[in-house]
Amino acid sequence: MSASEFEIIQRYFAESGLDFSRQGVELGIGDDAALLTLHQDSNLAISMDVLVENVHFPEGADPALIANRALAVNLSDLAAMAAQPLCFTLGLVLAERDEKWLEHFSKGLLALAKKFNCPLVGGDTTKCSPESANTSISIQVHGICSKNKASLRSGANPGDKIYVSGKLGDGAIALLSLDLQSHLPDSFQLQNSELPESCKQYFSDAYYRPQPRIALALAIRELITSSIDISDGLLGDLGHITSASNCGAKLILAELPVSESARCCVSEDNQVKAALFGGDDYELCFTVPPVHCAEVEKIASGLGEELSCIGEIVGGNQISCFDHSGSERVFENHSYQHF
Ligand code: ADP
Ligand code: MG
Repeated sequence: MSASEFEIIQRYFAESGLDFSRQGVELGIGDDAALLTLHQDSNLAISMDVLVENVHFPEGADPALIANRALAVNLSDLAAMAAQPLCFTLGLVLAERDEKWLEHFSKGLLALAKKFNCPLVGGDTTKCSPESANTSISIQVHGICSKNKASLRSGANPGDKIYVSGKLGDGAIALLSLDLQSHLPDSFQLQNSELPESCKQYFSDAYYRPQPRIALALAIRELITSSIDISDGLLGDLGHITSASNCGAKLILAELPVSESARCCVSEDNQVKAALFGGDDYELCFTVPPVHCAEVEKIASGLGEELSCIGEIVGGNQISCFDHSGSERVFENHSYQHF
């Protein structure tokens, strides 16, 4: 390890306070590996997401916001599994040593890491090749589930109600507002090129500050049959639940939770497309047997979390969508393809 790599790790990751102590973490940054203590009655949940400059965030984006998003999308995967965050590791590939960038990046991580009691316990720091000078940020989160208590994609049954947290579609609309590339068709546009300041701020927050629904997930895990977090659009992600659970689903489009800002900035048709195909929402989608719906709704409301019941699991293997008049609407598939 070069001296400056050591300095970067020391200054921005170890001494920044990111490796705060937490029960279960015996040894954090500084040795060849971190040491965690695991209990026999628990599972370690592990998940990783990589963010690449010019793909997941534009060049010049605020490093504190990038950091927030990078950790939040990982924590969202833990929420989907109903795992309690334990700690995370960070793989950084940097084009240059930019002290200001590192300082803000580290502060952005610290705020969210503290909020979820999830310290940084290790990682790796390297320089990009000169040909591809794109910063990349890989985060791996580790979480704890009581044994056999994780929420999987595979437990949904016909008759279960389908719920989502928060609002859907804002992540996709944020791409337009932030001038990032959207995979949706060209007709997916803002209604006016000048957005109200409040909407701009709202969409920036929606994109960079997704809210990992950890508390909700932990509180309802015994009452739900399956869950996933929505990173690639509702239809694609609910499709992972239906295929893992061998079932189909019926969605009521009028029940999709759409934000005021989305209503203000895109057409009704595009609000629906953003929710179904957009991705980047990092809300939870989960299924609940009818006997538990009232309790799940009560728990969510006690936590101040918005929930919407958007449909029902059915037999078969199709997801069908119905409009307010009860007629089926068929969509061309616009789901995000990574390759
Ligand atoms: P090694 O050569 O043994 O892999 P390194 O020199 O890469 O170790 O790292 C030294 C210590 O600093 C290790 O504990 C490692 O986990 C930690 N570390 C390196 N990069 C990061 C980073 N980006 N974030 C957090 N910890 C890091
Ligand atoms: Mg080593």
